[in-house]
Parts: sequence; C-alpha cells; structure tokens
Amino acid sequence: MREEPKVIESLGVVAASRASRMKAAGLIAALTLATLVIAPMGQQRVVIMRGFLPALLALGLLGDWLTGYLLWGQAQAGRDRGLAVLAATYFATGILVAVNAWVFPAAFLSGSGRPGNLAGWVWIFWHVAFTGGLLIYARTPGGRARDEAEFLWSARLVFLGALVVVAVALALAFSHALPRLIGINRRYYMPVRFVVLLIAFLLAALGVFVAQRRWRTVLDTWLSVALATVALNAVLIGSAHGRYRMGWYAGPLVSVVGGLSVVVACVFEVNQLYRRLIENSASMADAHAGLLAANSELTVMAEHDSLTQLLNRRALDAHLAEGFAAYRQTAVPFSLLMVDLDYFKAINDHLGHLGGDAILTQVARRLTQAVRGSDVIGRYGGEEFAVYLPGTGLPGARAVGLKLLSAVRAEPFVYGGRVVPVTMSIGVATVSDSDTALEDLVQRADRALYRAKRRGRDRQVVSGDAPGL
Ligand code: GH3
Ligand code: MG
Ligand code: MG
Repeated sequence: MREEPKVIESLGVVAASRASRMKAAGLIAALTLATLVIAPMGQQRVVIMRGFLPALLALGLLGDWLTGYLLWGQAQAGRDRGLAVLAATYFATGILVAVNAWVFPAAFLSGSGRPGNLAGWVWIFWHVAFTGGLLIYARTPGGRARDEAEFLWSARLVFLGALVVVAVALALAFSHALPRLIGINRRYYMPVRFVVLLIAFLLAALGVFVAQRRWRTVLDTWLSVALATVALNAVLIGSAHGRYRMGWYAGPLVSVVGGLSVVVACVFEVNQLYRRLIENSASMADAHAGLLAANSELTVMAEHDSLTQLLNRRALDAHLAEGFAAYRQTAVPFSLLMVDLDYFKAINDHLGHLGGDAILTQVARRLTQAVRGSDVIGRYGGEEFAVYLPGTGLPGARAVGLKLLSAVRAEPFVYGGRVVPVTMSIGVATVSDSDTALEDLVQRADRALYRAKRRGRDRQVVSGDAPGL
C-alpha cells in the first residue's frame, strides 16, 4: 500500500499532543490557584515600580503583534479563514495596547497630562476586541477558503472591526464624554468597574468554554490559556482599588503569560517541525546516496555481460551507431571485427558448460589485452565477440585482426589441468560510402566471418578482398 504524502498543516489544523494539552491545562490550573491566593490581598500596597507599566505594555505589544504576524503568515499559506480572523484579532488588540500606552497617565509621557479615564476605557475596548475576536474566530469555518476573495473577506471583517474600535477610542479621547472609571485622586469608581470587569470575565470564560470544545488543535489549546488569563486578569485587577496594589501588578503579569502563550506555542511547534525536517533531510540524503550507488551499479549491469565483463551487445551497438553517425558527418573511417570461436560446441562437449564458460572468459581477457584502450570490445552473442575500432581504416583493422589471432595462438588455453585447443575466425569490414546503414557494415563483417569459417577457420577474412575458396 502506498503511503499518502504528509502535508504540513497550520497550527489551526495540527492536532495537539496529549502532552501539550496537559501542559495548557496545568498552566491554567496554576494561574487560577495563584489568582485565588492573590485576589484577597489585591488591595495591599506594593513598592512603586514606575518601570513596570511601560515594560508590561511593551511586552503586551510584542506578544500581540508577533502572534498576529505568525498567524497571518500561516493563514496566508493555508488560505485559512479562521487563522485570518485570529491574526486580525491580535493585530487589533496590539493597536489597542499601543493606544493604551499612549493615553495611560505617566506611563510614557511625564506628568499625568491625560485623563486616566480614557486608559481605563481602552482597557475595556481591549477586552471586548480580544474576546470578541476569539468568539468570531470560533464561529468562522476553519480550513482553506475556496478562493482569495473569500479568504480576504474574513480577514477584512475583523480588520474593519478593529479599525472601528480604534476610531471610536480616538474619538472618545477628545469627547471626554465617557462615564468616569477613575477619579481625580486615581482611585477607581467601583460600581462601574465591577460591571465592566464582570462582563470581561464572563466573555473570557465563554471564550475558554468555546475554545476548549475544539481543544483538539495546538492553537485552540493555547488560545484557551490566553482567554483564561483574560478572565483571571479581570478578577485580579478587580481586587485592586488603585495603582501599585498587589492585584494591579498581578493581573497584568497573568495577562503577559496569556499574551505570549500562543507565540511560545508557535515557536515550539516550528522548532519541532524544523527538527523533523532536519532528520528527514538527513535520511533523504542517505537514501539519495544509496540510490545513486544502486543506479550506477544498474548502469554497469545494463551495459556489461556478467560472464566476461565485456560490454554487451546493446552497449556495443550504441558505440557502433555513434561511430556510423560520426562517419556520415566527418568521413573518419572505422572498422568492425566479428570474432567467432571455432568448434565451440566440441569444447563444451569436452569440458562441460562451465569449462566452456572459463574458456570464454580467458579469450575475452586476451582479446581485451590485445587491443588499444580506445578500441571497444564486446560480447556479441554466445561465443561471438565484436571489436569496434574507431578512426581505423582497412590496413589498421587487418593488423588488429592478426594481433587478435596471435594473442589466442600465443599460449595454450588450460582448463582443469588440461590443454584446450582454441582457435577463432574473424571477419573484418571497414565502413564505406556504399554502406547505407550500419546493418550493411555488420552484414559485410558477418559474411567475411562466414568465408573465414569456410576457408578452414583459425584465420581472418577481410570484406572486399578477392574471394578465394
Ligand atoms: P563454428 O566453428 O562453426 O562456429 O562451430 P561452433 O561449434 O562454434 O558453432 P556455433 O557457433 O553455432 O555454436 C556456438 C556454441 O557456443 C553453441 C553453444 O552451446 C555455445 N555457447 C554459446 N554461449 C555460451 C556460453 O555462454 N557458455 C558456453 N559454455 N557455451 C556457449
Ligand atoms: Mg563458433
Ligand atoms: Mg557462433
């Protein structure tokens, strides 16, 4: 059975492992426990740390925009509407964090210049935008959009919503018409705050509930953490009655965990993916090297005869065809020698098939040693060899034929301690203009070989020589 190729999926699709679901649940449980411990002490004064708020806002901004950026990249890659909504939500809340930093009294600008009331309202907008965005996400069909227009529509919807929120926030900054959340001496108006915080808490809790129903994916698992921290933030902030109180410090810190959880999950998953890629590419490189080796082995096998290790007929034919084509263009001659062992059936009968094989191998070795490196020798058939002599005319071919004959005659062949008389006949032909195709040349060499056999074997006959016997 063929295995389907594995598609790399976005974090909105890839299933969360049991381990990562347990981590998320553990984190939510720990943060809830911490909140339950700290909330009763929420109004206690703590050392005033002026750098806390700017650092926190900077971290919140980084978390939101980095998450938005990562999710937007994944949304585009997978044309995933759900992820587009989510990315837009993070970008929008990032904008609200930036606005909050700008209007928060004495966070970045010296003095208390702007009314703290607006910062409180932007804080509310943030909660509405974040939880609202996640709820829209939960209602958006996930997966790949049919086309680009459908994909962008989902994203635009939330971008538009975010722009409206920011526009409203900015408009309100000049109207001073909002109900007051924060008094002159920066103490909070408790009844309004309570209602607002309750709404934020309920929205976030609803979000956790909605997201946890889809807790099967990596993203939704960590979105639950983010939403849970929003709810816990509302509880902790609600427990403080002014700035620089225990709850005022603790709430935002919990939020930072939530703000960064999706980024951390992304980085973690990407790291896992990268590791898998490295492992895959290493094993692919091994497989590739193995394939190359097997391939070159196959090439050798496809071109050579396994008994004599000479080129096989197919490879030799290819050389001859090349030589013939070159001859047509350049008129550089070449020759062909057809070699056939004499009375080989008798040798087989005496020595057996294996003995015959051994003689064939010995002949092949002697023939190879007798020709030049540029000459090409191959096993043409059973006990027939062919020698292709590139750039060699008739006199040269005749000389090579004689050399081959004397190489076989020079020393006796021995098999199993017995001397075996071996002779061979050769037909020689040099290409000529009368050869209209390669087959003509082969046929002439064959006919010459046949004549050598008829004239008594153990000799060569050159095609075109005066017909004798
Ligand atoms: P001639 O002089 O007319 O060529 O006589 P011959 O006996 O050689 O006749 P022919 O060429 O027709 O016979 C070739 C024999 O070579 C037949 C076959 O049994 C033997 N032969 C072919 N291939 C192999 C091989 O790979 N190994 C062995 N041992 N014998 C082979
Ligand atoms: Mg023969
Ligand atoms: Mg033969």
